[in-house]
Amino acid sequence: MHFPAIGDFYQRLLFLLPFSANLLPEGLRFSYDEPQKWQYSYPQCGGSEQSPIALNPHKVIPIGLPPLYFGLYDEPFDELLSIRNNGHTVEFGVPPTVFGERPYLTGGLLSDFYEAMAVHFHWGSSQSKGSEHLINGRRYDLEMHIVHRNTKYQSDEEARNQTDGIAVLAVLFKVVKTDYLYYQPGLNEIFGSLLHLGEFNNSYTPAAFLTLGSLLGNLDRGNFYAYKGSLTTPPCSPAVLWHVFAEVLPISHRELPKFWQLRDRLGRPLLNTFRPLQSVEARQVFQRRPIVEYAWL
Ligand SMILES: [Zn+2]
Repeated sequence: MHFPAIGDFYQRLLFLLPFSANLLPEGLRFSYDEPQKWQYSYPQCGGSEQSPIALNPHKVIPIGLPPLYFGLYDEPFDELLSIRNNGHTVEFGVPPTVFGERPYLTGGLLSDFYEAMAVHFHWGSSQSKGSEHLINGRRYDLEMHIVHRNTKYQSDEEARNQTDGIAVLAVLFKVVKTDYLYYQPGLNEIFGSLLHLGEFNNSYTPAAFLTLGSLLGNLDRGNFYAYKGSLTTPPCSPAVLWHVFAEVLPISHRELPKFWQLRDRLGRPLLNTFRPLQSVEARQVFQRRPIVEYAWL
């Protein structure tokens, strides 16, 4: 790992353009009280090709999807993260790496390059699990989304209005009763920030230069489900090529409840921040399983 000289670092900061931390229109308001009513204000929420869906390993098409390519994912960011409670979730904008560009994604279902823009989470409560996607009929405790924008579009709005505008990587987490922290350095920094983000608009900057890849822990990056769907929050644009990892990462039972302490803009507990399951309709769902998987066993 190497870092640029301090002078170079600040010089580059001066020339960085501000970037949007969110692919949603700013200030957009909605709540998880009645997601079935989102469509009255945001018609696309009642449309087709919606997310999330239940992923059934027995009904997927095991075609030879290419692997995902994680460009600059393992290079350190050039800035510290600023994580914010935006009233719907905790989120941070993805800064450029020390190479001056943000991490990007291609491969899988993607024929273009997609630049990482923002990361946020969905969770449940002490009573209910809160992943958005289900795998094999099972809902998990937490789901992380890394949102990317197709580099051939100039703005978030333009990307939302194209069927190939956005790519989201989804990672599911399962709570594990353990008193030690898993070696997941990036994730542990994010989870550790939650205690500073209790109220709406709170933000916090962990004092560590992370990589985007460190949020994936030791995940098997070669095994994922892929399908065409939508944003899972208003305006529910059917613009998303989804890649949901089959492997589920652990989160300590000491970390998960930190999400349940967050509050929305009205000061109410921010709980069950997941959209109900949507119909798969006639959509094809693919799964990539590396052919050589477990060949050493
Ligand atoms: Zn999301």
